[in-house]
Order: sequence, then structure tokens, then C-alpha cells
Amino acid sequence: VFGERKEKEMKKETRLGISAKKDEDFPSWYSQVCRFGELITLSDTKGLYILEPSATKIWNTLRSYMDAELEKLGGVEEKKFPMLIKRDSLEKEKDHIEGFKPEVAWVTRAGEHDLPTPYALRPTSETIIYPYFKNRIRTHRDLPMKVNQWVNVVRWEVSDPIPLIRGREFDWQEGHSAFATKEEADEEVLEVLNIYSRVYEDLLAVPVIKGRKSDKEKFAGADYTTSAEAFIPTTGRGVQAATSHCLGQNFAKMFEIAFEDKEVKRDKKGKIIKPLVWQNSWGVSTRSIGVMAMTHGDDKGLVLPPKVARYQVVVVPVPFKGADTKRISQECQAVKTTLQGAGVRAIVDERDNYACGWKYADWEMKGVPLRIELGPRDLEKNQVRVVRRDTRVKMDVLRVDLVEKVKDLLEVIQRDLYDDAKRKLEESIQKVETWDEFKEALRQKKLVLAPWCDEVEVENDVKENSKGENEAGAKTLCTPFEQPELREDTLCFASGKPAKKWTYWGRSY
Ligand code: AMP
Repeated sequence: VFGERKEKEMKKETRLGISAKKDEDFPSWYSQVCRFGELITLSDTKGLYILEPSATKIWNTLRSYMDAELEKLGGVEEKKFPMLIKRDSLEKEKDHIEGFKPEVAWVTRAGEHDLPTPYALRPTSETIIYPYFKNRIRTHRDLPMKVNQWVNVVRWEVSDPIPLIRGREFDWQEGHSAFATKEEADEEVLEVLNIYSRVYEDLLAVPVIKGRKSDKEKFAGADYTTSAEAFIPTTGRGVQAATSHCLGQNFAKMFEIAFEDKEVKRDKKGKIIKPLVWQNSWGVSTRSIGVMAMTHGDDKGLVLPPKVARYQVVVVPVPFKGADTKRISQECQAVKTTLQGAGVRAIVDERDNYACGWKYADWEMKGVPLRIELGPRDLEKNQVRVVRRDTRVKMDVLRVDLVEKVKDLLEVIQRDLYDDAKRKLEESIQKVETWDEFKEALRQKKLVLAPWCDEVEVENDVKENSKGENEAGAKTLCTPFEQPELREDTLCFASGKPAKKWTYWGRSY
């Protein structure tokens, strides 16, 4: 009876798979992929998410990779700073607090008592790290100073949260550095941006565009912001994938971070002149996992790139009626052990209360890159059946070739996912030169590359005039470092003034 009842439940659950279609109802589709694909669980507070093992595995993989890359960068020390920021510290840099004000969550009470001064939950940690920099940096010998921390931050955004993409609390890595010269700071900004771009492209198989943010869109308090931008062709929206900011001397001024230079200079009164440091900050968040899910997922669910998949291979026993189930199970275990021995993350799905078809759908929903089916016929022929999650192509593989073939396939899948996403990105890019072309490209969900006069008023106008019925207007995503040729007489698509650069525009997450 138990078996029968389970069977019924299973059938019901089967229907609980991904019901929304990526092309038809993207928001519902994405939410289902995140939840049923077991990246996250919703908490009982809007915008706060529980990361499940599939997501923490991805995050930890990115972390290991980045830690190694930052090590190569040299001198980056991992530290951990408190999560509460005193109000006057947070408010010290004017642009910074102006930018973050609407999103800051405050701690105002302790037990029964109101606190004499409220504390902010860090939305980012410049203002808690830089008082420390001020104390630590005395002379040129203390420079450069580079710290990194892996922590969570809180940004209580009022607009609609989107799992992983825009949460009220999220995990990230934030790096902060101080240099003696602007040149060193400028150089590091790009070095870090390149690391971020590799995290997306090499691990998550998501192509990104590197460029510079407009003054309107730059980080609050920065001199300039560079970013890696991703694009979701299905919705025609850009998404800021990671950012690397040059803060110039803005924070150094307010937090008085100065140093005694190699060649000591003195003022008229004989006092040593201490130059201010040049600073950067840079971060990438768990948004990266959301961008990956949006990029590769399909109507069956999540599709995980092999490099970041918690399980790369799932082995499913296929016990036909009357088959030697014990032997099949043993062979499945043997396949798993062989693969694990070769460094492949493999598991066997031994759940005996689910039918094979149900298990296939379940693992497809969770995005495991390869499925291995093993039944009596495979046993006889000393082979297994291997099925790719991304293309769903099936092939029979001899047991003797198993390790080599599986490793090969994992590499091919990783590359194919990237190539496919890259092709779609390139197909999405539309160069325009007039307002009408711009509107049409936007309507067609393109990533619009347009010549622009680089004036904030025009940016504001474009946003206002491109608002849809239920859609926010388009904004600048970035001015790509790779610039197409700009003819001398090229005019801004929106203002008709002389254009200064090609810039990517689009609606965005
Ligand atoms: P920022 O310090 O604002 O430049 O943020 C650094 C990176 O964190 C951005 O490039 C985003 O990719 C990511 N990020 C910003 N806000 C959120 C959010 N609410 N949820 C998740 N990730 C975010």
C-alpha cells in the first residue's frame, strides 16, 4: 500500500515540475528554476533567500578560483570587518551616503533600549574599512594595502526583489585597496575586472562585456566604475555582473588616509606634507549564480556548467521487470566509484520509491550535466547510456571508455554552453544611429549599441522616453572598452549633438 501511495504522490509531484515556459513567462520560469532546481528556498521574508547546496557549491567554487587569482595579483590579504557601521562614518562621504540612503537598514534598539546612535547594517564596507586604513597607513612602506572579505551585505531595496539577482541580503566578495599613485590604482581596476570576466566566462560559461559605467550609473562616491555586463536575450535585459571601482581620493579625503612619501616634502612651516592615497573597491556577488541560471536554463529546468556543478554525473539504475536489481545497483555503484576515482563528482540515485522517468526529470530540473542510465541490456553489453543535460543527446559508451568519454563530454558541455550563450549575445547586439532605430531595437529586445554625446540630461531623457507600459526605461549599461570606429560626423542617437562614444543601452535588472 505504501508503494502505491508513493506512486500516486510521485505522479502528482511530476506535474509539479517547471510549468512556466522560458519564452512565455520568464519571471515565473526563473523563479521556478531557482526553487525547483534547488538553488534557493524562499524565506518567510520577501527578498531574503536560503542558499541550497547547489548554490553554495557554485559560490565556493567561484571563491576558490578568485582567492587563487587574487593571490596572483599579489598582496591581497583576507580580513573580516564588523557588519555594523556607525552613522557618522557612513555619512562621511556625501555622494556615497546619498547613493545608498534609500537602501540602508538600521539597527536602532538593543534589548529594551533605543541606541544612542543607530548603526547601519553594511550595504558595502568602505566606511567601516577606511577608518582602519587611516590607522594602518603611515608611510609609503605601508602601500599598497589590499584587503578582501567574503561576507554578506544588506541593501533593503524598495523595488521588487528577484531571487539571487536582486536580494535584500546577499553574499559577495568585496576588495578594498589603497595606492600611492593613481596609475597603480587605475591598473588594478582593470586587473580585477579581468578576473571577474574570467569567473563568468570560464566557470559560469556566461559571456560578458567589459566597459565603463556612465557618471550617472557609477558607484556612489567613485571617480569611475568599470563593469562586466551580462545580457539575457530572452527578456532583452542587461544585468550588471560585477563592478570594479576607482574611488580616486574621495574617501581618502574624508577619512584622512595620507602617507609619508619616499621623498619627504615640507610646507613653509616645516610640516611634512602627506599625500592622500588613491583607492579602489571591487565586488562580485551571488547574483552571478542567478545570471548563470537565467542564461543556460531551459523549459526542463536548470542547466549547470560542469565546472561549477555540485554533481557532474548522476547514475540512475534502470531495473526492468525481473532484472537482477542487486547486480544493477552494484554496477551503478562501481560506475560511480570509478568516476569519483577519476575526479568526477558523481552520485547514484538509489531512491527506490521513484520510477526512472521521474528521476530523469528530477535531475534534469536540477541541471546535472550528465546522466548515466544502467539497465540489464547495458550490463550484457558492458556499456552504459550517457545523456547530456544541455542537448539531451543520448549515446552508448563502453565501460572501458567511460572515464575518458565522461571527462571529454564534461569539457565539451562547458564549452558548448559558453559558445551558445556567446552566439546569442552577439546575435542580440544591434547597432543603431537614430532614435527610431533605437526604439525598434529595444522593442525587439536587442542589446543596443548607440553613439552618444555622453550627457546625463540625455541619459535621463532616454530613460523617460523609452518607458513602456509596465517597463522601466532604458539606461546606459556600459561604454565598452572595445569601441567600434566612430566617424567624425557621427551624431548622438538621442540628442543629435556630436557623439563622443559608442555605448550599450538597454532595460536592465
Ligand atoms: P556595487 O558595490 O553596488 O558595485 O555592487 C557590486 C556587485 O554586487 C554589482 O556589480 C552586482 O553584480 C552585485 N549586486 C548589487 N546589488 C545587488 C543585490 N541587491 N543583490 C545581489 N547582487 C547585487
